[in-house]
Amino acid sequence: MVAPESVLICGGGTAGWMTANLMQHAWPEATISLIESSNIGIIGVGEGSTPALKQFFKKLKISESDWMPECNATYKVGISFPNWSTRPGFESYFHPFFSELDLKPGEPFFYNSKLQKDGVSANAHPDQYFVTAEMARRRCAPISEKYPQIDIDYGYHFDSGLLGEFLKTRAIANGLIHIIDDITSVVVDNEQIQSVIGKKHGTLIADLYVDCTGFSSLLLQKALGVPFKHYKENLFNDSAVAIATDIDIEQGIPAETRSSALSAGWAWRIPLVNRYGNGYVYSSDYISSEQAESELREHLQAFDEEKYPARHLKMKVGRVEQHWKSNCLGVGLSQGFIEPLEATALMLVQYTIEEFIQAQSSNNNEKYSEFNTKVNKMMEGIRDYIVCHYVTNSRDDSAYWRDCRNAKRSSNLDKLLSSWSNNESFEQALRELDNELVYLRPSWYVMLMGVGRFPEQLSHQAPTDKPVFDVKKAKGYCEQLVDDVFPSHNDYLKKLYQDKWA
Ligand SMILES: Cc1cc2nc3c(=O)[nH]c(=O)nc-3n(C[C@H](O)[C@H](O)[C@H](O)COP(=O)(O)OP(=O)(O)OC[C@H]3O[C@@H](n4cnc5c(N)ncnc54)[C@H](O)[C@@H]3O)c2cc1C
Repeated sequence: MVAPESVLICGGGTAGWMTANLMQHAWPEATISLIESSNIGIIGVGEGSTPALKQFFKKLKISESDWMPECNATYKVGISFPNWSTRPGFESYFHPFFSELDLKPGEPFFYNSKLQKDGVSANAHPDQYFVTAEMARRRCAPISEKYPQIDIDYGYHFDSGLLGEFLKTRAIANGLIHIIDDITSVVVDNEQIQSVIGKKHGTLIADLYVDCTGFSSLLLQKALGVPFKHYKENLFNDSAVAIATDIDIEQGIPAETRSSALSAGWAWRIPLVNRYGNGYVYSSDYISSEQAESELREHLQAFDEEKYPARHLKMKVGRVEQHWKSNCLGVGLSQGFIEPLEATALMLVQYTIEEFIQAQSSNNNEKYSEFNTKVNKMMEGIRDYIVCHYVTNSRDDSAYWRDCRNAKRSSNLDKLLSSWSNNESFEQALRELDNELVYLRPSWYVMLMGVGRFPEQLSHQAPTDKPVFDVKKAKGYCEQLVDDVFPSHNDYLKKLYQDKWA
C-alpha cells in the first residue's frame, strides 16, 4: 500500500484532529473521513505540550499568529517541580526545554554536578545554569526577534477544546468528510476491520481505520482484542480532578507549567491568556475523589464551587501491545496513556502518526512489528522518566509518597539509578542505554540534581586540578542573554494576538 485511498478516523478529540491534518498533508489524494459522537464528549484536558508541537505546526505551515490567538495559547519554556523533595535548598527545581544556548552554561552544570556527587560543595542546583530557567523566572517569551536565527526549543499551553476546533475547521476546509454520529458496532472478520457501523449513517468502509475513540478504544482494544499492558505497578495515579481559575495577566503570564506535589499526587497549573487550567492527578488507592477535590481547592484557594466547578476524570495508564494491527491504527488515549507529568501525550500522538505514515509505505513484511516496537519503546522511555520522579521523591508525609519510592522500575531505570553515585558508571550507563532512552543526559542530571540526590555531607575539597566552576558566571550568562534577547511574555503575546488581546 503506497497510500491508502480512503481513511476513516473514529473520534474527534485532539488525537483525531491531529491525525486528520497530518494525514491530509501526507496523502493529499486520499479520501479522509472523521466520525465523532455528539453524545460522547472529548476528554477536554491536555493543555500543555513538549517542543514537538512546534514541529507539528511548522510541518503544516500554520503560523503562531494564526493558531495561538484562536486557542488562548501561551508559550511554555519548561516545567517547575515544587515540593517533590524535602532536601533543604532543593525543594523545587525547573526542568527546562534545552537549546543550543544552553551549551555554554550547561557544561559547567554537569561538571559541578559531578563534583557535588563526589561530596564537594559546588552549587550545582540546575536552576542556575539554563537559559529557559531564567526565562521562566522573568516571564519571558522564548522568541528572539533580535536574533531570529536562534532556534529555541519550546512548547505551548493552549485550550484543548479550541485547538481541536481550530484543527477541525482546517481539516474540513481541506476536504475532510465530517460525520457526526455514534458508532454502534465494528465489524471484524479474519482479524481485519470490515466496517464501522454508525447509528444514523449505517455501514462505513475504508482502507484504513484510525482508532481515536479515547480510553474506550472501540476498534483496537474492543473490536480487534489487542491486549492492554497496565503500568499500575510503576505509576500509581489513576484519577484526576480539574478546576479552572482566574488569571491576572497584568502580573505577567508565566511561561512554565507548575507541577506541585500534594499529599497523594501532584497538581498542575497551566497558564492561558484567559484562565489557569489546574488539576490534581492522584491515586484513588490513597485518597477519595472528595478528599482530592477539597485538597485541590485548598491548594488553589478556590473554594466557591459555583464559580470554580470541578471535573473528575478516571485515567487508564499503560499501553496496548500493538498500536497498528492489520488495517487499524490506534492514536491517542485509545493506544495508551502515561500520566501527564511531563505533558507527553500529544507528542506521542504526533510520533505515532508520523512513524506510521513512513512505515505503511514500506514493502517490508516486518513493518508492523518494527513500528509497534518503536512506539512501545517510546512509551516505555517516557514512562521510565516519569517513574524516576516518584522513586526519587523524599517526602515522608504520607504513605503514598513512601510507597512511591518503591514503585516498580524497569531494568533501564534501575541501571541509571544504581550507577548515579559513580560519575563514570553513570556516564557509561547513559551511553549504553542511548538507544533506549527518550529523555537524554541533561534531563536526567536536572531531575536527579534538582531533587538533591547527592551525599548528605559535602565535606570534600575540590581537587586542585578541578576547581569548582563559579556558578555566578553561568547565572550571569543566562541573565545577560535573557535581558538582551528575549521579550516579556505579555509584550510578545500582545503583538501576536493584536486585536484579540483582552
Ligand atoms: C488529567 C489529564 C491531563 C492531561 N494533560 C495532558 C497534557 O498536559 N499534555 C498532553 O499532551 N496530554 C495531556 N493529556 C492527554 C490528552 O488529554 C489526550 O492525549 C488528548 O486529549 C487526546 O485525547 P483523544 O483524542 O485520544 O481522546 P478524547 O478526547 O477522549 O476523544 C475521543 C473521541 O472519540 C469519540 N467517540 C468515543 N466513542 C465514540 C462512539 N461510540 N461513537 C463516535 N465517537 C466516539 C468522542 O466523541 C471523542 O470525539 C491529559 C490527559 C488527562 C486524563
